[in-house]
Amino acid sequence: MKLIMNDPLFEYDIRGLLMAFYPWQDFNTDPDAEDAEGLYITYENEKSCLIRFETADLIKERRVFLDPERTEAKNQVKRALYHILSEANQDKILPWGSLTGIRPVKLPMADIQEGKSREEALRHLKTDYLVTEDKAELAVSIAERELKLLKKVDTEKGYSLYIGIPFCPTTCLYCSFTSYPLKKYQDRVGEYLDALEKELLWTAEQFKDKRLDTVYFGGGTPTTLEADELRRLCGFIMEHFDVSHLLEWTVEGGRPDSITEEKLKALREFPVSRLSVNPQTMHQKTLDLIGRRHTVEDVRKAYEMARKAGFSVINMDLIVGLPGEDEKDVEATMDEIVRLRPENVTIHSLAIKRAARLNLEKSIYRDMRIQNSDDVMEMCRKKLEGIGLYPYYLYRQKNMAGNQENVGYAKEGTEGIYNILIMEEVESILACGAGATSKRVRHDSSLITRAENVKNVDIYMENIDQMIERKNKLFFEDR
Ligand code: SF4
Repeated sequence: MKLIMNDPLFEYDIRGLLMAFYPWQDFNTDPDAEDAEGLYITYENEKSCLIRFETADLIKERRVFLDPERTEAKNQVKRALYHILSEANQDKILPWGSLTGIRPVKLPMADIQEGKSREEALRHLKTDYLVTEDKAELAVSIAERELKLLKKVDTEKGYSLYIGIPFCPTTCLYCSFTSYPLKKYQDRVGEYLDALEKELLWTAEQFKDKRLDTVYFGGGTPTTLEADELRRLCGFIMEHFDVSHLLEWTVEGGRPDSITEEKLKALREFPVSRLSVNPQTMHQKTLDLIGRRHTVEDVRKAYEMARKAGFSVINMDLIVGLPGEDEKDVEATMDEIVRLRPENVTIHSLAIKRAARLNLEKSIYRDMRIQNSDDVMEMCRKKLEGIGLYPYYLYRQKNMAGNQENVGYAKEGTEGIYNILIMEEVESILACGAGATSKRVRHDSSLITRAENVKNVDIYMENIDQMIERKNKLFFEDR
């Protein structure tokens, strides 16, 4: 499909919306390309924009008179484009309307904080962004819940610590994270931890006057580390950071095939309070297809081991829209998960990321069902509410199956606070490890800035001083 613009104004958002209607399409910006379908955006002058969408058998056109305020002008263009694309696709409705951002809950949060009523927050989503009634209700209720939970965090005085372990047993089909097969680095894990400790030490010293609120081990798969390596890393944190105010310490077990009794025992020697054991699906044929290389039985065993080890908050991640799965498959997975009774469940809609094998090899999977819908998400919600789990955070990604969302559910009092902090961007996050991104939240100006560590493990280890310098610049350049 052609995408021709005479000015790149709002291009990022326009592409996002186009991708939401045409998830598998490539967009061609060559005006002489031979594609029958094309979107043409012409800014005629500062005040007017013509949107034209053409296929072999239809032409749709709208002129937008642009508001002088940039955000409103962008929303006008997106709304007009949404209507055109919806009409061109048999009145197709996207659940999140013209919203293309990944943090839709920020809108109702800001409205509520400004003193607007629940009805006004709902109306804002439905009228200005064409969000459906159900999704608007979901976003507002999550905003209300998050605001309540955030009351226990002093986000100005505190910070959170993210530690990335970029190794996994194998690479999943849909993976877009910083992850390398453990085999490749097995002999260099100690060296990686040396570099990580250097970065952590700098962080501990620079932030010793701030309160450490949450710690999160992500990746990758942190439990690819051996028990002694986990002990070494957790022990280093205990030795150098003040954990007396810690609200939560999460470790992503992630891949059940990386979890052992010995590793769980090692983690329990420290105040690790929340563990993820992520099945993604409880269907073996799908696990095999997506390259997880573990069994459904491994999930059950890892979960039981975690319970036995004494973890009282266990999260399980699931993905809806995996290739070849339909609603019945998802329902069967949900029934199994509900039987296990975890305290937290995160429902992801499959996102087809550019660098993931699923996208790079898309010709293989194009004919397989990759689907999600309001009905499936609703079924998941009902099953989880049946065991007392309620939605407490939400985010979206580009190219998500069915244009849905990722939702974290939790039993009251077990919510993952780090998840809210990172999604709503209300507290600074110090991130250490290959591929980790630190975020500085300035409470005086609401400005959010970031510093990224390199993803490549070798380059990260060789250039650890540079990673520290990036963080130093991010947090202290204006000191
Ligand atoms: S477990 Fe997660 S990080 Fe590791 S390969 Fe799979 S999707 Fe990527």
